[in-house]
Amino acid sequence: MMLETVDLHAGYRKLEILHGVELRIGEGEIVSLIGANGAGKTTTLRTIAGLITPTSGKVVFDGQEVQGRRADEIVRAGLVHVAQDRALFGELQVWENLEMGAYTQPRSTMRESMDRVFELFPILAERRQQRADTMSGGQQQMLAIGRAMMARPKCLTLDEPSVGLAPNLVAQVLEAITAIRDTGVTVLIVEQNAKQALRISDRAYVIENGSLVLEGTGSELIDDPRVREAYLGA
Ligand code: ATP
Repeated sequence: MMLETVDLHAGYRKLEILHGVELRIGEGEIVSLIGANGAGKTTTLRTIAGLITPTSGKVVFDGQEVQGRRADEIVRAGLVHVAQDRALFGELQVWENLEMGAYTQPRSTMRESMDRVFELFPILAERRQQRADTMSGGQQQMLAIGRAMMARPKCLTLDEPSVGLAPNLVAQVLEAITAIRDTGVTVLIVEQNAKQALRISDRAYVIENGSLVLEGTGSELIDDPRVREAYLGA
């Protein structure tokens, strides 16, 4: 297993949101976590990333327990999170944002990492000197993913990468995520718009009110009547 959560409980102050979440993500898989607004998807990713300390349970990454560790230590271990708000440095140029993503890496690898990102997202190469806050939503999402790739992750977690994007850009971003996986990176995606995420996923989980309620391959869940009714609008 590349990433596993064991009986994970977490929340905000006294309010428990996650009631024993158990995810298992094998090396090289794309796994998605789908669920309605407020189901606990973001809380799950933030807990895995070390941004929320779980009240109990484990996060096991690449054979090591990482729950309770600082977020930057988790990045150094190879688990990198792309937040839903993207958290770019708006006044900095594209290439400067990418450099910031490499803060855990030796300076000597910067050039190669950036070239890899430019290969995944050619638009970022074209716009390398553009200020991040003047880029379109889709380009900013690509930049946020590219910046995460600069940390050379073994596993990438993405919080709603398609949110607010035009349909053709959604397809483009999901295609890039598949290309990232094809370079050997394990991927966990959270999505509210489940359909396209399920199409590129090897497996998926459904979360409701802080508990996992269904699990299957991407195609099993696309065909599951409960998923179709609740999450695919069909
Ligand atoms: P969304 O798609 O809306 O982001 P989600 O599945 O990611 O939904 P979470 O963001 O994990 O859901 O939220 C789960 C629950 O935790 C919600 O009831 C939400 O109101 C609550 N919550 C989220 N952030 C906080 C916070 N900082 N303080 C208190 N409660 C919070």
